[in-house]
Amino acid sequence: MEYEAVIGLEVHVELKTESKAFCSCTTAFGGEPNTHVCPVCLGLPGVLPVINRRMVEFGLRTALALNCTIAPMCKFDRKNYYYPDLPKNYQISQYDMPLARNGYLEIEVDGEKKRIGITRVHMEEDAGKLIHVEGPNGDYSLVDYNRAGVPLLEIVSEPDLRSPEEARAYMEKLKAILEYIDVSDCKMQEGSLRCDANVSVRPKGATSFGTKTEVKNMNSFRALQRALSYEIQRQIELLEKGERVVQETRAWDEDKQVTYTMRSKEEAHDYRYFPEPDLVPLAIDQEWIEKVRAGLPELPDARRERLVRQYGLPEYDAGIITGSRALADYFERAVALFPDAKQVSNWLMGDFLRLLNAQGLEPNQAPVTPENLAELLKLQEEGVISIKIAKQVFEEMFATGKGAREIVQAKGLVQISDVAELTPIVERVLASHPKVVEDYRNGKEKALGFLVGQVMKETKGKANPSLVNKLLKERL
Ligand SMILES: [Zn+2]
Repeated sequence: MEYEAVIGLEVHVELKTESKAFCSCTTAFGGEPNTHVCPVCLGLPGVLPVINRRMVEFGLRTALALNCTIAPMCKFDRKNYYYPDLPKNYQISQYDMPLARNGYLEIEVDGEKKRIGITRVHMEEDAGKLIHVEGPNGDYSLVDYNRAGVPLLEIVSEPDLRSPEEARAYMEKLKAILEYIDVSDCKMQEGSLRCDANVSVRPKGATSFGTKTEVKNMNSFRALQRALSYEIQRQIELLEKGERVVQETRAWDEDKQVTYTMRSKEEAHDYRYFPEPDLVPLAIDQEWIEKVRAGLPELPDARRERLVRQYGLPEYDAGIITGSRALADYFERAVALFPDAKQVSNWLMGDFLRLLNAQGLEPNQAPVTPENLAELLKLQEEGVISIKIAKQVFEEMFATGKGAREIVQAKGLVQISDVAELTPIVERVLASHPKVVEDYRNGKEKALGFLVGQVMKETKGKANPSLVNKLLKERL
């Protein structure tokens, strides 16, 4: 039997506000443990939370960028559970009246576009962090509340995804949008972008859903894709053997590349949600919504279309370049100075991204600025350096952060286009290869290539090849 997977994703995004969701403590990453705390985020008795306006604005920005409908009225609720990283023993979240609902984003897999529904977007606060220590007298845990109370958005998708590739494409698009609207750092490794998946399988074409499992602990796009592939295969094998899928929460083990049971349905928490009595319901007026909407930047899909239209870029190039706002910004700055857009995109998709990825850098951290790249391309276009030398200079620019002209001059890489300088070399080559010269004169055209090669060798690749051709032909 042929099966298909049904996947929905729950994504948590840490918002990059200056202060926490309900107090004025800093959200700065790191810091000495338990120094970014106050009575509110430590849950001491008698304190009152205050809603961070900026968190709501970032939530609106995200919801609008995801084509959601903003609720005219939303409220906060308490999600109750006991865990040492949660000082209040409840998390302030939103339950039945979230900030926004019914949005979508568009993905493309194997050239096919597909709209993925967004069920809801809601605001909540993060928990602290437990650090487990192995001590000589037994293991123990330390708790750091610096992260407790940092604002999060939870973005829940419809179960519209049908493969691990689609899930990955969804995450990549969501991350790109969040970066474009500048609400989060979106670092999966550092936990500012986290993702849980609901996965089930069913016979292909069926309309009802199979029993689902929830998979957690996937810390990269690659982990997400592999965990889903594993889990889908596991469920199919169970069904093929005539067994049942058990509804449970499973975790991805990156080392073993398997999912394993974390807790069964019977152990699932009953969160006993109830309205947060210390916070007023939030009525967001239309004027504010429209102001936030008007302030949204151009989003990835729109920018991709514009790059194709405005610069004549192929769809493929435009897709890669607009996959990151920083890369698209870089591209447009370089093209403003060097208008051959396809050349710029070739360099970006080739040597630039290769060197960037090798060093784990973002485009805006590249040692080569758009100005410097444009300068290099100009030197090549003007014939000052050859394409081969240009690649060599680019590596050097990337390693040192120096400008193209500076490197070309310091290393004496300037292409030789001076007739007076090339003539003696050309004549020397001709004089030392009389047999080849004779072959050429007898009609063996290939002999010319050999002679050009000899001149290039003598000049360490710096001679202007078309000029060398011309000078040789004049003498043959
Ligand atoms: Zn605080």
